[in-house]
Amino acid sequence: VPRLILILGDQLSPDLSALDSADKSRDVIVMAEVRAEGTYVPHHAKKIALILAAMRHFADDLRRDGWTVAYTALDDPHNTHSIGGELLRRAEEHGAESVIAAAPGEWRLRQMLDDLPLPVRQHPDTRFICSEADFSGWAEGRKTLRMEYFYREMRRKTGILMDGDHPEGGKWNYDHDNRKPARADLFMPQPLHHQHDEVVTQVLALVAREYPKTFGTLHPFWFATTRAGAEAARDWFMAEALPRFGDYQDAMLEGEKFLYHSILSPYLNIGLLDPLDLCQRAEAEYRAGRAPLNAVEGYIRQILGWREFVRGVYFHEGPDYAARNALNANRDLPWFYWSGETDMACMKSAICQTIEEAYAHHIQRLMVTGNFALLAGLDPQQVHEWYLAVYADAFEWVEAPNTVGMILFADGGIVGSKPYAASGAYIKRMSDHCKGCTYSVSRKSGEGCCPFNPLYWDFLLRHRDRFERNPRMAQMYRTWDRMDEGKRDESRASAADLLARLDAAQRI
Ligand code: FAD
Repeated sequence: VPRLILILGDQLSPDLSALDSADKSRDVIVMAEVRAEGTYVPHHAKKIALILAAMRHFADDLRRDGWTVAYTALDDPHNTHSIGGELLRRAEEHGAESVIAAAPGEWRLRQMLDDLPLPVRQHPDTRFICSEADFSGWAEGRKTLRMEYFYREMRRKTGILMDGDHPEGGKWNYDHDNRKPARADLFMPQPLHHQHDEVVTQVLALVAREYPKTFGTLHPFWFATTRAGAEAARDWFMAEALPRFGDYQDAMLEGEKFLYHSILSPYLNIGLLDPLDLCQRAEAEYRAGRAPLNAVEGYIRQILGWREFVRGVYFHEGPDYAARNALNANRDLPWFYWSGETDMACMKSAICQTIEEAYAHHIQRLMVTGNFALLAGLDPQQVHEWYLAVYADAFEWVEAPNTVGMILFADGGIVGSKPYAASGAYIKRMSDHCKGCTYSVSRKSGEGCCPFNPLYWDFLLRHRDRFERNPRMAQMYRTWDRMDEGKRDESRASAADLLARLDAAQRI
């Protein structure tokens, strides 16, 4: 009796655990483009196109490799438009009685497979450097989970950037060499633009037809959709951008959407690239003297540290993680998150590039759109759905801990020990947005002040009971208490005014 082997749109790896025990001569691989997955949040058009085109290429690779693939196209008239529905339909068609899968990257789909009226074996997804079981082993019994200690453990375990028992260069972390603001540079590397093949051309027409109202602009579309294309993008990054990755990791520049970032997360998260391989290649650049240690360590920490850590947290914390709301934030997401129509230059820049590219780099997500969401007390569920929808690399296991945990502190302090709250001064230091902004970053309150300024204090005051005793935040409360009474009143009035305007859906 044949078995069905389920391969999801973010599982496009030839070494997927679902394939390990499968038998080419009798089993049937099921891949399906279904509307339920394309619409549970209004995904960016480029994200949908990337996933569908990469799925079609991967199905072709599997067939060439001798597998039988039952592939459902989005516009197939028999399409039931859900993963569960397609599994049941294919089981009937092929006389299959069971399903093998690699555990999906979100609780919703794991639950759906468990509830299916067919036996489904979910194998651990082995495409990560730290297994879920190993993470839980590390986390069990610790009072707090801190990325930095997890990361050191991972360095020791993999031997990456190690000099015997010691970290290469004597330190685990070179961030004090990083975090420089950047200046516009004519020679800034631009990410590889991949040509359309026939599959991409067809998928772009399909997405335009089937998802006419979804978020984001579809054209120009330049993502790679094959393993070879993703590998070319990887090689481009290692040669062109990695050496300066560290220096400008936290910088933002008007009009420079990519700086020295890798733009590899969309490929990594759907399985076209392998995280350990990326870390090893980055290390090799350092060993060969082509990239400095601060850049290579910084890059490796994002993958071996942050990426593995947030995945561990997501599965360790359980299915309710994405629904947490520790700070009881409940303001609706302002409409300008979907349109970019705001006068705040930094917000406009981050949102407009998100609409165009389905990409914004980490500091834009964390310190601009994320910081605003935190300070304004936006409802975590709505913010979570926004981040899940708008980025090509967004899958719940990685998006939710970053949103609910890192930016909103809605998990009560699991991903981070304190909120990343910041006033306009941070954005001024790390970017050139403030120069051309309608608002004045040097005005702390009153007419024309940068909204981040009064909202910053308002956030701290709203949560004084929770944060005042946090040793890393106590100083800010002392600064507030020493401030002139009149200035404090004006700051509070400005915040109240801004929040009222948000609630009334007025432009800010
Ligand atoms: P680079 O700057 O080149 O970084 C290298 C790699 O490190 C990335 O490709 C990524 O795989 C990894 N990485 C870096 N930071 C993180 C992090 N905090 N968590 C996990 N991996 C990290 N990343 C996603 O892959 N998917 C998401 O849905 C996602 N949502 C986010 C939401 C918010 C609110 C925030 C603050 C961050 C989010 N991130 C997400 C993390 C990070 O912003 C992106 O991984 C990064 O911007 C991707 O661009 P890049 O490939 O050019 O990254």
